[in-house]
Amino acid sequence: MAKSNVLGNAKEQSDLEKKQESIDRAPFRHLKITDAGILDTIEGRETCKRCYRSRKFFCYSCYLPVINEKYFPRIKLPIKIDIIKHAREIDGKSTAIHATILAPEDVRIFTYPDFPEISDKEKTILIFPSSTAVTVESLFMKEVKVNDEIIVNQVRDTFPIKRAIFIDSTWHQTKAIYKDQRLRDLQCVILKSRISQFWRHQKKSPRWYLATIEAIHQFLVELHACAFGILPEYANLNNSEEETLNVENSINDHDTNEVSKLDQRYKGQYDDLLYFFKYMYDKIHTMYDHDQLWAYKRPLM
Ligand SMILES: [Zn+2]
Repeated sequence: MAKSNVLGNAKEQSDLEKKQESIDRAPFRHLKITDAGILDTIEGRETCKRCYRSRKFFCYSCYLPVINEKYFPRIKLPIKIDIIKHAREIDGKSTAIHATILAPEDVRIFTYPDFPEISDKEKTILIFPSSTAVTVESLFMKEVKVNDEIIVNQVRDTFPIKRAIFIDSTWHQTKAIYKDQRLRDLQCVILKSRISQFWRHQKKSPRWYLATIEAIHQFLVELHACAFGILPEYANLNNSEEETLNVENSINDHDTNEVSKLDQRYKGQYDDLLYFFKYMYDKIHTMYDHDQLWAYKRPLM
């Protein structure tokens, strides 16, 4: 018995590694990301209009683009996103800024202890894997009382929250910020496991620990999929066949009810959040051999 378990684990591990290799070869293959080739036509640096410092593409101190809007896509998000970053986090290294540049109407960045005002706690969640964290899917489960009986209803075709807060810092700093009482009252949400393509190595963090822009994208895909369904090719994002099956089943239930809602299924609406991320990933990979990049040697678990 024990022997077969060991064999099973070894097989699982090797399957996971194979899957990993195929994802690493083309990590953005399933995503609809605008080609960023136009960024290569921009030579040198520009001066930030606000702080007058010399920057490439955007100013990571002022959270403003320094290039014309024609060089990058704009995305409208279904909810508001606030990002709290640690004061000691180096601005130039963070991917949080990608979100404010690409979705400026919906994303704000705060530097801790500066804080977003939380006016509606019921509709605000914190992305953090606390012991009481729930999945995105469970946000859609609402308990209702019918004739003294409590029934769990699944909310569909709408978003159960209005605002999500992300903490942008190293894992160690994130835990420190989470101690803040203002965050303690919020419902914490944990994302599904997804392998990070972030090239900046963080000591001791597993590859499941996502760059902030990857986490925001992952969260929005999950949120949209729960509300409206997801096209089957996108279900792969979660890197799990079991999940794919569940998602497809739930779509089928959904479809029979309202065929007209099909058009609203997830089909890449927020993928351009990874526009700069993919561009930089591709750049790094033309400069260094993937196998030599330390970040990708992080443990899977
Ligand atoms: Zn600036």
